[in-house]
Amino acid sequence: MDYQVLLYYNYTTIADPEMFAKEHLAFCKSLNLKGRILVATEGINGTLSGTIADTNAYMDAMKADARFADTFFKVDPSPEHAFKKMFVRPRPELVSLKLEDDINPKDTTGAYLSPQEFKEAILDEETVVIDARNDYEYDLGHFRGAVRPEIRSFRELPQWIRDHKEEFMDKRVVTYCTGGIRCEKFSGWLVREGFKDVGQLHGGIATYGKDPEVQGELWDGQMYVFDERIAVEINHVDKQVIGRDWFDGTPCERYVNCSNPECNRQFLTSAENEARHLGACSKECAQHPHNRYLKEHSLTDTEITETVAANFK
Ligand SMILES: [Zn+2]
Repeated sequence: MDYQVLLYYNYTTIADPEMFAKEHLAFCKSLNLKGRILVATEGINGTLSGTIADTNAYMDAMKADARFADTFFKVDPSPEHAFKKMFVRPRPELVSLKLEDDINPKDTTGAYLSPQEFKEAILDEETVVIDARNDYEYDLGHFRGAVRPEIRSFRELPQWIRDHKEEFMDKRVVTYCTGGIRCEKFSGWLVREGFKDVGQLHGGIATYGKDPEVQGELWDGQMYVFDERIAVEINHVDKQVIGRDWFDGTPCERYVNCSNPECNRQFLTSAENEARHLGACSKECAQHPHNRYLKEHSLTDTEITETVAANFK
């Protein structure tokens, strides 16, 4: 493992995000880093890959800057880069809940729970655990018994909570996300909404999986990540596979993108089922004129027709 993948955020003040983004991009490129960094007046949120030496140099430089000195970096060893390019983008906000009245997590946020405290919360029947991520992230892996909001994007979360308020209002509510940044705002919003006892997993799932005491226990499946790895292991104690093959429902953790570039849906399937379905998620996608799988395997029209007829209902 000669590389490292970094994940971090910091709610801090960046006076001129546009200017900062330009300079920071040049700096990251000078260290041969790849990844995606968002910059806003309210702070920074990044995920990067590079060699051990280059990523260490990046963390040292950040810690030497007063604005970022207290940044907590989650570090994963990796055999190679986890990104293809390097982006640093200015944004109006780091994570968007589309609130009329934005939350500053430095003023209002839920209580920070250590991995051990969070594990106790999961086991406590009086506590509601809410996953603050998107439904497709939940479906690859989540904490045992956690509530799955039916949302395709983080912005939809406040409305979903308002629609289900009676279910949680009188209980202790704890929330979690990948690295912790979404929960800083979301738990602050829950406090402002009037929820009395709100907690958040400090450092997110990424930290929970590395904690020497809990070692990811009570996490089922894998954790979805927004880089080329797609999924990483969290539970090193009592792991269960919860992903299911798109076609036959058998346990599966192998991700593919639909071979129709206009669909590109990410789904789980075995290599055998992928071949049987021409790499596509549906009959329509399998027969799409731009299907990548058909081109790569130079299939004849007869072969395509026969395969589709045999394997799609
Ligand atoms: Zn498709």
